[in-house]
Amino acid sequence: MTRSAMNRTRPILKNFMMQDPIGPVTRLEGIGPVRAQRLARLGVACIRDLLFLLPRRLREWAEPVSVAEASDRVGSTVTVRVRVRGVRLTRFGGRRSLVRVKVADESGEIDALFFNQPWMREHVRVGDDVELHGRVVDAKGAALASPKLGTSAKPLPSPGTVVPEYPLTDGVSQDFLAALCRSAVARYGDGVVELLPHDILTRLGLPPLPEAVASAHAPANAAEFDAARRRLAFESLLGVQARLQLARTGRSGRATAARIADARHAALLDRYPFALTVAQRRIAGELRSDLARTSPMRRLVQGDVGSGKTAVALYAAMVVAESGGQSAFMAPTELLAEQHFFGLRPLLERAGLACDLLTGSLARRDRRQVLERLEHGGLHVLFGTHALFSADVRYKRLDLAIIDEQHRFGVGQRAALADKGDDVHTLLMTATPIPRTLALSLYGDLDVSLLDEMPPGRGEVTTRWVRGAERRRVPALVRERLAAGEQAYWVCPRIGAEEDAEEESLARIAGAEQRFARIQESEVFAQLGVELVHGRLPAEERARRLDRFRRGEAKLLVATTVIEVGVDVPAATVMVIENAERLGLAQLHQLRGRIGRGPAPSQCLILGDAVAEHRFRLLEECRDGFLLAEEDLRQRGMGDLAGVRQSGDNLEGLDDPERDLDLLIAARDLARERPDVCALYGAGERATP
Ligand code: ADP
Ligand code: MG
Repeated sequence: MTRSAMNRTRPILKNFMMQDPIGPVTRLEGIGPVRAQRLARLGVACIRDLLFLLPRRLREWAEPVSVAEASDRVGSTVTVRVRVRGVRLTRFGGRRSLVRVKVADESGEIDALFFNQPWMREHVRVGDDVELHGRVVDAKGAALASPKLGTSAKPLPSPGTVVPEYPLTDGVSQDFLAALCRSAVARYGDGVVELLPHDILTRLGLPPLPEAVASAHAPANAAEFDAARRRLAFESLLGVQARLQLARTGRSGRATAARIADARHAALLDRYPFALTVAQRRIAGELRSDLARTSPMRRLVQGDVGSGKTAVALYAAMVVAESGGQSAFMAPTELLAEQHFFGLRPLLERAGLACDLLTGSLARRDRRQVLERLEHGGLHVLFGTHALFSADVRYKRLDLAIIDEQHRFGVGQRAALADKGDDVHTLLMTATPIPRTLALSLYGDLDVSLLDEMPPGRGEVTTRWVRGAERRRVPALVRERLAAGEQAYWVCPRIGAEEDAEEESLARIAGAEQRFARIQESEVFAQLGVELVHGRLPAEERARRLDRFRRGEAKLLVATTVIEVGVDVPAATVMVIENAERLGLAQLHQLRGRIGRGPAPSQCLILGDAVAEHRFRLLEECRDGFLLAEEDLRQRGMGDLAGVRQSGDNLEGLDDPERDLDLLIAARDLARERPDVCALYGAGERATP
């Protein structure tokens, strides 16, 4: 969806007292069906859309330059003040023509080219003093391409004048659109009405809406334009936040409250085989009070890799089970779902709770059995992938949805969950902190907990970028650790070798399969036991091989990034990552989170191209996953983060969300605290595209 199409999701109608501004653009002079269609491509259907069409940026008319300087600046747009020396019209047949106007100042001569505007020959005369503003191109020497013409009768805007620049589409020019918007403001601007209470505008430092609409299209200066832009952005942000808020209040009271007494709470925390960290206890407390309410919990737990999020989630599931409800525990991969299931089952069973695993690869009969137990309430916790929320999965009483590594789920999968459980408590977990802007715009109603403490007894992990000749010593280094009884991962981003790779790079970009074959050729490694896992293996085979590694029967695991989440083997102390330049910062950090899970010191050896040196250095220096994720975000930009594009909807009007974070927060708070304002904005219709 284009940004312009998204503009339609603004709350509509309410800002107008008069009916007219909502009328179609064809009511405006000079707009027939053809032009209306072109405007529609910009998301402009009615006059109101025009009034609210936000220019992309402001252009400032610069001081004129000399012809000599203009000739030196091919590619840029300049203004020159010149005298006309010659005018020549060439016709190419049909409607095509070229008027070449030779102009000069004391510094030199340049041509201005007017394509298909034969009238220009009459318009300018030799000896006239004119201004020209346009792009300098290289047409057998520097020339000005289709410049704007200023004459003494009708001069160009003076230097320093600011002009809004609109988003364009074929057949709609900048000047045309600007004039259209200005005439729309002149005739219909009065119909714009401010709905926000005055005190709120004052507090936020925003101009009233009618004023903002007018100055967006004809700003006196940059500051006025920016204020107008922010006011218009706030209008759409508030619409989104109000809708989220209304959805939330609409839901409230529909979840099942699970209350446990203090003694029970303490008893649950005692069930773990380890003492929970202070942070884990704190979040357990937050979950306890969330779950005790009938308004559905929406909580995101952010915690670095290895901070122990699973234990926290388990607590929530136990609380719900105590009150007779069921929990769905969803992981992004089967591997991780299995890991959770096998890891948590003993604890759950000791507590007298029944759980099972539902994945896509389950045999039909087994699947039916699981589903039956679920429907009849024979299961307290069901682990699985997004299959947990497919249409045929029916819960007796689903009270809690736990979503692990939530950033890896697509928008569609989240929607499927929302379908099943609008009134279900939801616990989201992630090791990748979502920037606050994003969290707010995706779910204005989300509460966030930070798991900011690592469990004790973890060995130090050192990370090193290994280069040049030293790379050859890596196998020996790994062998040494394995001989000492430790275990290792060897990660290759790809399964097979690069198919179209040339001879030379083939050696460099080995797939996991090739690496596995190579390593096995070495007798020492073969004796220590090597396994290979990747995403293309059948689930059972993969589980079998992982088990061998987990039990220590294989000391070395060659793998693709499938092991990025979920594999938990405390004896593993070495990780080699090949072609690490292919992986992002956050992903590399997540990968190395597989080691250092036991008390022994661990090392992560990065093999990768110097193109990614910056990333490797950061990993060497920094162990804080949150800092790394932020840096990752800065490097790749907001747009790249999972799910952001699809949810651009909620960020509409914000080209740079970080810059306007205050507006987003203000919109969220306003929607929360002022039901009257919320109702006004949240009920706004969505025009159909
Ligand atoms: P993540 O936050 O990455 O999901 P996990 O929940 O997988 O982390 O926990 C990582 C490891 O730490 C697991 O082996 C888990 O059993 C262990 N663990 C979790 N909490 C504690 C604790 N309080 N004390 C000791 N070990 C813990
Ligand atoms: Mg986890």
